[in-house]
Amino acid sequence: MKQKQEIVCSFCGRDKSQANVLIAGINGHICDQCVTQAQSIIGDEQDQKLKSNIGTPLTLPKPAEIKKFLDEYIIGQEQAKKVISVAVYNHYKRLIHKSKIGKDDVELEKSNIVMVGETGTGKTLLARTIAKLLKVPFCIADATVLTEAGYVGEDVEHVLARLLQSADYDVAAAERGIVFIDEIDKIARKSDNPSITRDVSGEGVQQGLLKMLESSVVNVPPQGGRKHPEQKLIPINTQNILFICGGAFDGIDKIINRRLQANAIGYSQKSETQIDHDNLVQYVSPVDLKTFGLIPELIGRLPVITHLAALDASALRRILTEPKNALTRQYQKLFEMENIKLTFDDDALDLIVTKAVEFKLGARGLRSICEAIMLDAMFEVPSGKSAKDFTITLAYANEKLNSSTIKQLKVA
Ligand code: ADP
Repeated sequence: MKQKQEIVCSFCGRDKSQANVLIAGINGHICDQCVTQAQSIIGDEQDQKLKSNIGTPLTLPKPAEIKKFLDEYIIGQEQAKKVISVAVYNHYKRLIHKSKIGKDDVELEKSNIVMVGETGTGKTLLARTIAKLLKVPFCIADATVLTEAGYVGEDVEHVLARLLQSADYDVAAAERGIVFIDEIDKIARKSDNPSITRDVSGEGVQQGLLKMLESSVVNVPPQGGRKHPEQKLIPINTQNILFICGGAFDGIDKIINRRLQANAIGYSQKSETQIDHDNLVQYVSPVDLKTFGLIPELIGRLPVITHLAALDASALRRILTEPKNALTRQYQKLFEMENIKLTFDDDALDLIVTKAVEFKLGARGLRSICEAIMLDAMFEVPSGKSAKDFTITLAYANEKLNSSTIKQLKVA
């Protein structure tokens, strides 16, 4: 009976002779043309979803909520986390407010941020985590690359091209994104250095950056670079893009110290005894950035200044285990996928921290040291030769470190 029934597509009604392929389901059939159409509908839906995800945050978390989220990933750096939570909140608040303001309303100015702190203290991590929370387009640019290429204008546009790419070419979303410019200190004017009388390159790049930081429309080559001269330029308005700059500013502590000393001689705000000489960077001010070699116009475009403290042994120890994606948790996850329970003994973790401090590698060094310890285990475990429980003891960690080349990483 059933076989005699005519087989047709349950979606469009085409019979078998009109379709190339008719796929059978439990209670019906679908033809190849309906499959193609369904696929394109799904594609459109997904595109829409993606676009709505990378625009202005749908719900803007309060500064305390932003900070709480940052706490899950970043150890310490309380002041930086607080300052950035407020700045980011105000930035997006300003965007929301902007669509509502009347003529006489107060115009809220953008608060681009500059973070001062040694390398490996979490500057990039902070910017990246903020972008993750807000689900806005985000890109990282290295200021030093801008110096090397020389063609200032084009390279600055390249940065925005990357933002546009991360926004999936949705211009409106890119115009509300976040750009993290790393190593901003490397493009400082070197006028303080007596051996260099004039340093045009640094200042030139700063001028280029200024163009991007101040509210302007920049014509961006969508593919980036200069390899595609024929490509149509896309105008991007940078007015609502949040720029976060970071740099180690090597030697800025001396500049800060000099300024604080001078202040103490004049009428003092902080008497000498109140100054915490171990962490001078906490007193960083726009004047210090100027002395370091940033041009005043650029400093003016970076009104929020914050600092990240150097990480001491106790902070490094916490970084190993506490953040949501802490290194030890990552290894445990990897082993869990092989059905093995991985445990780190406390004294083995202490050893990792001691080595990171000894080698002066900071938080970045933790990973290299862990890799050296874990290499053999990660090599053998997938072959199923290990027991169901694997413990990294102090003796095991020591043995693996001693037989590795990790000592060569030591910074003189
Ligand atoms: P920076 O940009 O300051 O040079 P990063 O943010 O790239 O440093 O930090 C390098 C790595 O070190 C990060 O990926 C992270 O794993 C770790 N790290 C650094 N600082 C912290 C911190 N405060 N909390 C947690 N992890 C950190």
